[in-house]
Formats: sequence, structure tokens, C-alpha cells
Amino acid sequence: MTWLEIGLALLAAALAVALYRQLREFRKLKRWASQSRLSDPPEAEGGWGEVFNFLHRHRRVMLKRRRELAQLMVRSRRGAQALPYGVAVLDADYRLDWCNDAARDQLGFDADRDRGQPIVNIVRAPEFVDYLRVADFSEPVRLGSPGGRRTLSLQIVSFGDEDHLLLSQDVTGAARVEAMRRDFVANVSHELRTPLTVLAGFLETIQDLKLDAGRVRDYVGLMAPQAERMKHLIDDLLTLSVLEHAPPPPDAERVLMRPLLQRVRAEADALSLGKHRISLEVAGSHDLLGAEREIASAFTNLVTNAVRYTPAGGDIRLRWISTDAGGEFSVEDSGIGIDPEHLPRLTERFYRVDRGRSRETGGTGLGLSIVKHALARHQAALAVDSRPGKGSRFSARFPATRLAAAAQKVQG
Ligand code: ADP
Repeated sequence: MTWLEIGLALLAAALAVALYRQLREFRKLKRWASQSRLSDPPEAEGGWGEVFNFLHRHRRVMLKRRRELAQLMVRSRRGAQALPYGVAVLDADYRLDWCNDAARDQLGFDADRDRGQPIVNIVRAPEFVDYLRVADFSEPVRLGSPGGRRTLSLQIVSFGDEDHLLLSQDVTGAARVEAMRRDFVANVSHELRTPLTVLAGFLETIQDLKLDAGRVRDYVGLMAPQAERMKHLIDDLLTLSVLEHAPPPPDAERVLMRPLLQRVRAEADALSLGKHRISLEVAGSHDLLGAEREIASAFTNLVTNAVRYTPAGGDIRLRWISTDAGGEFSVEDSGIGIDPEHLPRLTERFYRVDRGRSRETGGTGLGLSIVKHALARHQAALAVDSRPGKGSRFSARFPATRLAAAAQKVQG
């Protein structure tokens, strides 16, 4: 072997060792880099140490960013979950990508089944399909929920380049209040228009015909009950409005039951004109705490109804029973009674079982509504027990907190 050959062999051997070392470090790098967890870089030779350190720093920054992004995602989704709205993310073609629980509940989405589905295949209400077609999203659209029991307000909000959010809100309560307000205005207008039409008719007749004084008196006599009816209605509306807006009744002001019950009974006698047997029974010795006018108004309404819906010759029994556990004022009559189907709606404004009979006897349809409000303001509840053709019993039940031991024993 010549010196040259020996030199070349040594060089080759040195190169092989160097290559082997590089390969070994490279394998180390591969092994280390393929670990999913971030671990300290292994010991490395030569310039590899710097490479490892650089990559380690880079990986650390990347992992930190990824963690922050993941946390941001989780927080955004948690935020979207916590919203009192249904939120659904839609892509440029209005396909469902993600939704929160409220959207799932309100719109009947199934996150797994519906993902990727065009939204119009899931929310099929014609109003919503039109809303998407017209694509004017400046205002929300209202629709009934799939079950039909709820009213929803839906609005599309665009974000990013072409993505959309679908926001849904349960507005059942607001829709109900709106409907009630509409019904209320319609009812009041109707109730006022009838007596006004009659009054206007009489006035025209008096103006157009030359009537003698006696006939004019007759006409005025016929007009008076109509004016009275309008006055009743307005009085009841004002009472209701006061009950709705007045501050809560005092809880330390004593309402003396003896004079109150006697006054209520006297009113019943005056209305009945001796046509009914009316009795008052008192058991217990408590007064009430609260607003006298409100309690008197509730009791008078109950008693007046008993007289109005009990034919002549019937019985009406007023009772005030109190113990330390609570008090009950009840009015029991042997009148026409109420079919059970009407009971849940009796305290609604203008709800009457028999409109004609209510009007004939001077009813406004607001009496029990006033009773319910006045009692509720005293934490009391109204219970109704009635059988058609047999009679009714209306009871106002007061909690112990509204009772005060009577100054004098109450007697019937
Ligand atoms: P109204 O002015 O028509 O009497 P209310 O609110 O006082 O209005 O009562 C609502 C309806 O409940 C009445 O129209 C009547 O049909 C029914 N009602 C109330 N009290 C009695 C009663 N004691 N006996 C039978 N029906 C009653």
C-alpha cells in the first residue's frame, strides 16, 4: 500500500466517522422533533447544539401560541354558550358549522346530524326562507318555534369575509305582552263604543225631533245608564292602572276588619235590594295589614258579583276566618255557578262567561282582574270553587304575615 492509498483510506475513515456522527445527531433530531410533548433537547455535538436550541425555542413559542389559540377558542365558545341568545355559525353558503345549546334548543338543531346542512333545510319556516332570499338582514324576522309554543326572533349578522352568525332569541313573553296590549285596546274601544253609540243616537234624536220636555226627560233617563256604564268602565280601568303602578301596600298599616266587613255587607244589601238572604260570619280575631282601599275594593267586587250572579231568593254568605296561620275572606252564593272550563280564565281582563248577563247587571269584565291584582299585592291568593246551577265560592287567602291581632274582637 502506498502512502497515498493509506492517506486516502484514513480520509475515507475520517469522513465515514464524521458522516456517522452527523447521521446520529440527525436521527436524534428526528426522534426529538417527532415527540408530541415538548421536552428538553438532547445533548448534541458541534453546531447541532445551536440547531437544537433554536428549534427548541421555536417549538416552545409555537406550542404556547397553539395553547393560547386553543384557550381563545374554548373561551369564545364558552362565551357563545353563555349568551342568552341562540348562536349558530354559518358559512358563506349558509350551511351550519357550529351552534350553541340555546340555538339547539330553540331551533331544534342536532349538532352532529345537521352540521354542513344548508340552514333552510333545518329552519323551514317560510318567513325565514323569505328572509334569506331577500337578504336584507337589517331587522330580525319573527317566527313560531317548531313546537309552535314559542315566538322566536332570528337575525343574520355577517362577519369576516363571507361568514354569518344566526342569532335567535326567545321573545315569547314580549310577543304575549304585545298581543295582550292589542287585545286590551281593542276590548276597551269596543266596551266604550257601545254605550257611546247609544248616547250619540239619543242625542241625535233629541236634536232632530222637536220633543216635548217629558219625552226629552224620558230620553235623558235612558241615556243616564249608558253614561254610568262608561263611568264604571273608566273607574275600573283607573283602579287597575293604580294597582299596577302604585308602590307596594304598607305592611304595618292596620285595616280594621269589623267596620270594613260591615261596610261590604251594607253594599251587598244595597245592591240586592232585599232580594237575597245575606249573612256575615266572623271567626277569629285578626285585622289585616295593608292598603284599606285595595282590600275593600277586592272584597266589594266579590260581594257585588255574588249578588249579580245569584237569582232573587238566593243565599249569599260572607265569612272572615282567621287563625295565627292566616286569614280567609270568602263569599259563597247559591247562584248560577260557573262551568269548570271557564275557571282558569276568570281573572283575565274582560273575560266573561256570559257577556250579555255581565252587561245587563252593570259588569265591566274587570272586577276579578282587580281582585286578583289587589290580593297579589298583599301576597294573598284567590281560590274559586263553583258548580254550574248550584253556586260559587270565591275565597281570598291571606298569609300570616298580613295579619295583626285585632284591637277589639270582631263580631258578625
Ligand atoms: P263582570 O263585570 O263581567 O262580572 P268579573 O271580572 O267580575 O267581570 O267576572 C268575570 C266573569 O266571571 C263574569 O262575567 C261572570 O261570568 C263570572 N263570575 C264572577 N263571579 C261570579 C259568581 N259569583 N257567580 C257566577 N259567575 C261569576
